[in-house]
Amino acid sequence: MNLQTLFCPNYACPARGQVNQGNIHAHSVPEKRCRCDVCGKTFSVTKGTLFYRYAAHGSRDVGVAVGI
Ligand SMILES: [Zn+2]
Repeated sequence: MNLQTLFCPNYACPARGQVNQGNIHAHSVPEKRCRCDVCGKTFSVTKGTLFYRYAAHGSRDVGVAVGI
């Protein structure tokens, strides 16, 4: 896991969307989960990436995003 490219996906967190701030730490390596020091929430590693959006919503949303 490259923690420096991850960010907190919690909408209520002031550190949301900010990478390389030192607030993201490994929580469970086997489960690929990380924890944010700012809000204390854990999240899946793939959740903070475009891949998660792609996997969760399919290619249709990606096409919309590219069209913006
Ligand atoms: Zn957070």
